[in-house]
Amino acid sequence: MTRQLLLHPKPFMEESVFGYCLRLSRVNGLQSLRGLHHYAARQALSPSLSEITGHDAQLLSTLRGPAPAWQAKQQEWEQGLTATFWQRSHRRWCPLCLREQAYWRANWSLTLVTACNAHGLLLLDRCSSCGRHVLWSSGDLTHCQCGQDLRFTQGLPATQPALDSAHYLALALKRSLDNGSVENHASAPHTSAPIADLQLGQLCSLLWFFGAYLFHADAVKPQKIPHHGEIRVVLPLVSMAMSILDDWPTGFHSFLDRFSKGAQGCTAALHIHLGVLHQALFRLLKHPEMHFLQEAFERYVHERWGGALLYAGKLKHEHPLMSGTEAAKTLGISMQRLKMLIAEGELQGSFLTTTKGRKQLIVDRTSVQMLKRHKGAEIPLIEATKILRISPPRIRLLVQHRLLRPAHPDKGHTTKYLPFYGKDINAFLASLSHDECHHYAESTDLISVWRIGKQWLRGDENFLRLITALMRGELNVTGRDPGQSGVRALLLHRSEFRCWFDQLHVEQELMSIPDAAKFLHIDDTTFYCFVQAGLLPLDDHRLYCFGRHIPGIRRATLVELKEKYLWGKELAQLTGHDLTHAAAAVMHRGAEPVAGPWINKSCCYVFRREDVSELLPVSEVV
Ligand SMILES: [Zn+2]
Ligand SMILES: [Zn+2]
Repeated sequence: MTRQLLLHPKPFMEESVFGYCLRLSRVNGLQSLRGLHHYAARQALSPSLSEITGHDAQLLSTLRGPAPAWQAKQQEWEQGLTATFWQRSHRRWCPLCLREQAYWRANWSLTLVTACNAHGLLLLDRCSSCGRHVLWSSGDLTHCQCGQDLRFTQGLPATQPALDSAHYLALALKRSLDNGSVENHASAPHTSAPIADLQLGQLCSLLWFFGAYLFHADAVKPQKIPHHGEIRVVLPLVSMAMSILDDWPTGFHSFLDRFSKGAQGCTAALHIHLGVLHQALFRLLKHPEMHFLQEAFERYVHERWGGALLYAGKLKHEHPLMSGTEAAKTLGISMQRLKMLIAEGELQGSFLTTTKGRKQLIVDRTSVQMLKRHKGAEIPLIEATKILRISPPRIRLLVQHRLLRPAHPDKGHTTKYLPFYGKDINAFLASLSHDECHHYAESTDLISVWRIGKQWLRGDENFLRLITALMRGELNVTGRDPGQSGVRALLLHRSEFRCWFDQLHVEQELMSIPDAAKFLHIDDTTFYCFVQAGLLPLDDHRLYCFGRHIPGIRRATLVELKEKYLWGKELAQLTGHDLTHAAAAVMHRGAEPVAGPWINKSCCYVFRREDVSELLPVSEVV
């Protein structure tokens, strides 16, 4: 039972997780963040903010940013940003904001935020008195460890690019809290590149990409920038990135000029021209929201190299979704016909609402290619494998359980050629994601169906369970991975999956190894002896416990084991001997042990229950 902190103020909107912990320690009279940690560790097995404050997830969901290491992982707060984009060790702040209201804003911890828009100041990241970074783990809510009050430090006026970038980043962070409903208000600074609609992670990646390549161009790995947590390092980087976005697309084109190797009239693959830039640029271009980047890039490629380049629409091939217009063009049909094909299930498509509220028809690229190639005729199993990204045996399994309809249902799932119709494949994929073509979402909050199959749920039985849960809507697809297609591209919310997974365990009555050992009245070592001897199958079940995957075992399997074999105390009871002599006595009378001896507290042999029963007088057999 956890004892909550005496005082637990509610978090502010967009408050930093570290800052909130500091505030909690202050109001409860604890010395520092460390004090809070010690308190939490004493109270709970795996300390978490919800346990020590008693606030529910909803209330704590307004927090953002990295959390202290002792806090059981809450990745939602980090918004799926990589470690580079959050500053976790030391603090950055606007002295005037802190003076107005003493709490720490989450956006200050974003690596690329260098200024405060409300006060037009550069953020501070060093104490004015001792000149050191102020760590989260030292000092208190408003003071440096040297005693300096952080609210009363002179700030420097910020530059325009710093303010603009801070504005957009703050906007994107805010949108993550309001589920995208934030209006882009009129005060927004103007850039010629449409970056106001980008998600936080995408915006960070874009700024970082431009900034790093200009600022750190000569390095072997330009995107690895030492000391990027310091305002003085990151400020020029942000300014350079903003200068490109402000002058769109001219700025971008001269940026490309600088990096691409001039190879006039020479035919070569794109990556040779682009050199170091190639991979990083293509990673960015995978986001459908980066449409403007793709357009500007294609125009550049076209003007610069014309037909000399083996370009062949490589970019477009990479994205698993295409616009309705493009799909109609590819298939050589009208938009009306396209919509009809979607309605008939020959194509997979849906309307997507953009952040601006526009409706856009998005079509699944694989379904377009499939229709183009097969023209509605039967698709052989091997092709279906490529489209669905499921192995042939698993496809047969789906057919067997009537989850996927083959071209000839009467022939069963074992027939050698197992062809399908495109619309049945589409219907199957659509039923998994409930007819929605989702945007690509890059976030560590998401987990792919493929990874679930690899790490969490192995074996045919579990595969079917997962597919069924998706079809029934017990699990919901929330995004797609642009690097993948078919079932592999589907992404789920980690937390939602976790809940479902835990529920599954309850239903399957899974136990951890220590619990299972207790259930069998043996110790953990002996448990593994049973496994090694092949008496206990450690099957593909996984429990999730304290942030780790551990093997799990079903209660039914253990009951079965107990019914089949005899050992230890039960053997002694049944044979009427004491614990140390029971096994010897049974062996003396001719029963062969199936396993053992294992040396632990007592020498352990395992016998088949029926072998022992034969030796006993009839009346004694239970
Ligand atoms: Zn401020
Ligand atoms: Zn100081």
